[in-house]
Amino acid sequence: MMEPKYKRVVLKLSGEALSGNNGFGIDPETMKGIAKEIKEVHRLGVQISIVVGGGNIWRGKTGEEMGMERAQADYMGMLATIMNALGLQDVLENIGVPTRVQTSVEMRQIAEPYIRRRAERHLEKGRVVIFAGGTGNPYFSTDTTASLRAAEIEADVILMAKNGVDGVYSDDPRKNDAAVKYDKLSHLEVISNNLQVMDTTASSLSMDNNIPLVVFNLNEEGNIRRVILGEDIGTTIEG
Ligand code: UDP
Repeated sequence: MMEPKYKRVVLKLSGEALSGNNGFGIDPETMKGIAKEIKEVHRLGVQISIVVGGGNIWRGKTGEEMGMERAQADYMGMLATIMNALGLQDVLENIGVPTRVQTSVEMRQIAEPYIRRRAERHLEKGRVVIFAGGTGNPYFSTDTTASLRAAEIEADVILMAKNGVDGVYSDDPRKNDAAVKYDKLSHLEVISNNLQVMDTTASSLSMDNNIPLVVFNLNEEGNIRRVILGEDIGTTIEG
């Protein structure tokens, strides 16, 4: 059996990644496909935690643009991430992957509250832990949540799954043919060149805590496994 390069990972799944081609809501087939890939790496003995986004249902910024109070709109976004987390838990458990959802905002009837030590214990016992509700604070993102949780649980890497983009480019490859793909970057390069991999809060948290990041295309089957086995795909950001 091949040795995984990473033993404990945070997989960041944006809400968009769960919506398939619809761009909105949850696409059950897409979700099942992702769950199958997670199962494959779970079999390798990798400790997997997942941070889910909510942009497929609601984004705080959209609410603000519609005239809502930003914090209120952000709480709606946090709830959206919890809906995604419950959906993901369901498909994972349906294929026999033991899973726990932990929410940053207490919701006792639905899921466990986030407790770092407990999350680590679940991981050690081979359960996939889904971190829902973002950081629990408005004005933050689930990218920042991924950096924060990765630092807290001392994950080896953040796997940043992207929809249809296979790494970080100098410019938008869909609009500019001359855009070049980077194989390796530092967090500082990402921030100073405004490369939009994550928001700057998330990038600086990853930089300050030395958390490597691999950006890769989720839409190619088997890519989560490839990244975890250390194949050179996507863009690695570290240092
Ligand atoms: N959100 C928040 N605080 C957090 C994480 C998320 O307020 O710590 C809200 C915010 O409104 C955001 C929404 O939840 O727009 C969905 O999260 P995000 O945009 O990060 O999801 P993604 O783009 O990954 O689907």
